Parts: sequence; C-alpha cells; structure tokens
Amino acid sequence: MNGAEQLAELIAASRRAVVFTGAGISTESGIPDFRSPGGIWTKMQPIAFQDYLADPGARRLSWQRRLEMEETWKTVEPNDGHRAVAELVARGVASHVITQNIDALHQISGVPAAQVIELHGNTRDARCLDCENPALIADVLAHFKAHGDPPDCAVCGGLIKTATISFGQPMPEGEMARAQAVAGACDLMLVLGSSLSVYPAAGFPLLAKRNGATLAILNRDETPQDQYADLVINAEIGPTLRAVIGGGY
Ligand code: ZN
Repeated sequence: MNGAEQLAELIAASRRAVVFTGAGISTESGIPDFRSPGGIWTKMQPIAFQDYLADPGARRLSWQRRLEMEETWKTVEPNDGHRAVAELVARGVASHVITQNIDALHQISGVPAAQVIELHGNTRDARCLDCENPALIADVLAHFKAHGDPPDCAVCGGLIKTATISFGQPMPEGEMARAQAVAGACDLMLVLGSSLSVYPAAGFPLLAKRNGATLAILNRDETPQDQYADLVINAEIGPTLRAVIGGGY
C-alpha cells in the first residue's frame, strides 16, 4: 500500500479530523515561504513587533513591503491542496483547519471562516493595535501611497497594523485556545506543508498525538516530528491529496 492509499484509509477511519497547514500548501499557489530556510525572511530582515511599535521608519518599511505584496495577494488563488482541504471540511471529515498561513486561501477556497483558526493572523485585514478597530487594507494602502505613512486609527489615534502576528508579537489568545481545544479532541491530525519548526504553532500536532490522535504528515521535506507520526509522506500536497480524495472538487 503506498502513502496515498494509507492516508485514504486513515481519513476513512477518522470521525473528527483536524487539518494543520503551513507555508508548503500555499507555495503551490506561488506564494513565497516567509519563514523557512531559504525563505523571504532569510533574505529580508523581518520587522520585529517591538520595532514596529517604537520606530516610524519600521512601520513605513512594513507597509512598503505590504504594498509590494498587494498584487500577489489580489491575484493569488487556492490550489488543489486548498480545494482538497475544503472538500474534507465540506464532507464533515475535518472539523477545523488550523493554519500558520496569513493568506486566507482556506476561506477563499470555501472553508467557512468559523472553521479556520489562523495562528499567525491574516494579511488581508488590518486593525488598530490599541482598540482593535478594523481598517480596510485598501484604505490603509491608499493613505500610505498618498502620504508615505500609514494612517492612525480613526477611533483612538493608535497604530494601525496588518492583522498578522509579527516576530515578538504575542500570539492571539482566542485562536490559541481554539486550536488547543480542537487539536486535543481530534482523532486524526493531518499536517500539510508545515516544517513543524515554528513554535508555539508546531506544538498542536504533538498535542493531538499525545491525546491519542493519529498523526499524518504530508510535506515536501522531512520534519522534526516525523518520528512521532503514524504516516509521513514527502510529496507535493495538491497532487497527493487529489489521489487520496479523488476528483470532483
Ligand atoms: Zn484604535
């Protein structure tokens, strides 16, 4: 039995699976991998949260980079991997998708937003760091293009930031709690395209395994958690899941 057939059996036997996704599922849509070795953050220094708070220059650089990514975010589309995950959710096999990605491609591929847990936030939204009032990305970028600076919060005058979790920024409490609950209660944890090296996010598959779930990892490369997994497949996600799930999505 090959890996795809084994994964198909695990999915068929599962009653409450959780999918955990990382950058590898979105690189198949052409989105660059930010955090992994060789990724953008190894070539371009990430802006730490403390610097964003303290330094107007860091905020300008952050929004300049966000502006340069806008064409990518506007045109990128879900791939077969996202569509397969959406299919698993639609069939009721997977209850939730926990993702490290900030691209919202799971929601765009049809997973209801309430079933997506974004551990590192979402770059398509922006909000005030003080009062959490949302701001439209399009408005912030238009202001930035016109003035060279992001706008302040219209409500409280606080700093506006993309709704992503930067290095050094506290993890979102609500999302962490939801991820802990669903990871601890699932019977199959299906990891797709994560190097499982960025903590605390990478702790959730291990939590599931400790609580008795089957752990399956589908990733292009090896991960540090392969030794704990019941099944490891090193392959592309989209084509592999299409073989596992079948067509029709
Ligand atoms: Zn505010």
